[in-house]
Amino acid sequence: MDLTPTPLIDAAVLQLLQQHNHILCVSHINPDGDAYGSLLGMGWLLRHLGKQPVLAMHDETPAEFAPMPGADAIISPADVTNDYELIICLDASSMDRMGTVYQPQIHADIPLLVIDHHITNTRFGQVNWVAPECAATCQMLVYLTQALGIPLTGPLAECLLTGIVTDTLCFRTNNTNAAVMAAALTLMQSGVNLAEIVARTLNRRSYHIFQLWGMVLSNIQLEEGVIWTTISLEQRERAGKIKDDGQLSSMLVTATEADISATFTEKIDENGQVAVECSFRAKPGFDVGSVAFALGGGGHPPASGCTLSGQLEDVTAHVVAKLQAAHRQQSGQ
Ligand code: 5GP
Ligand code: MN
Repeated sequence: MDLTPTPLIDAAVLQLLQQHNHILCVSHINPDGDAYGSLLGMGWLLRHLGKQPVLAMHDETPAEFAPMPGADAIISPADVTNDYELIICLDASSMDRMGTVYQPQIHADIPLLVIDHHITNTRFGQVNWVAPECAATCQMLVYLTQALGIPLTGPLAECLLTGIVTDTLCFRTNNTNAAVMAAALTLMQSGVNLAEIVARTLNRRSYHIFQLWGMVLSNIQLEEGVIWTTISLEQRERAGKIKDDGQLSSMLVTATEADISATFTEKIDENGQVAVECSFRAKPGFDVGSVAFALGGGGHPPASGCTLSGQLEDVTAHVVAKLQAAHRQQSGQ
């Protein structure tokens, strides 16, 4: 039984894949399960087509994604060259999200194919396949695999299920519709172990994360439907230089009294300046994607983020005011 009806995929996408052989694939900075799932999945898909993909990431592979099939072949920005016939960018909503893997001055002449599901995608490629109706870029790759007549099995299926499971927080986000479940079921029918993926990704936290949460949860604030907290550099140092990666905002938005959550994490950016990573979540009916986009970031209506330069207290005050204004507007007050 074919449970995932294949939507029409633009001929330009299929043509680019079929025309070229030496292909660089890249996903986004601060990578998540959909970033690795779609990057590695595209690698397996291209190998099925007889191509020679090169996979690159700005960041080093975190422990929870290192066991994914093909992860050992990912190269770092220093090893990226300029002789590719095609570059495929996966799960990234804007060019800067590729980090230092993509260097406009040496890569601008190479065709760039963008495959992404963020509604805030800026369409920065020559060909852009953007499908916000999909809950994960990996869901798009399920359809692409089917359109190309490639079997959805083995390492490819494992990678794609990882992205769908992690981006939907194990089928809990409100964009988890029947099409998402059908795509996941098709992957599971090929024997992929869902429980193993969940145990290795969503159901796993370091002891240091709990230490960090212990420090910052005592500072949470709730005003006008917005709940937030800050994470200073000093607190991160005390907890072993840990990064929270949006998990705290996901937890805070479950507060009954809040519709929108935010965490503000102080960091030193690549120019040595103080910057603040902002992570937002919203309950169904509220949209933080548009707030992040207006601040130069991006994401989805229920989960988004941006990075702003400035002191932690200043950025927090400025952004909380924007979130509260969005909350007033979106709740019709
Ligand atoms: P998280 O809060 O988990 O780090 O990110 C949630 C969502 O917002 C993800 O879909 C991620 O792609 C997006 N996002 C987070 N930070 C940024 C950013 O600085 N720029 C853009 N364009 N998107 C971001
Ligand atoms: Mn994604």
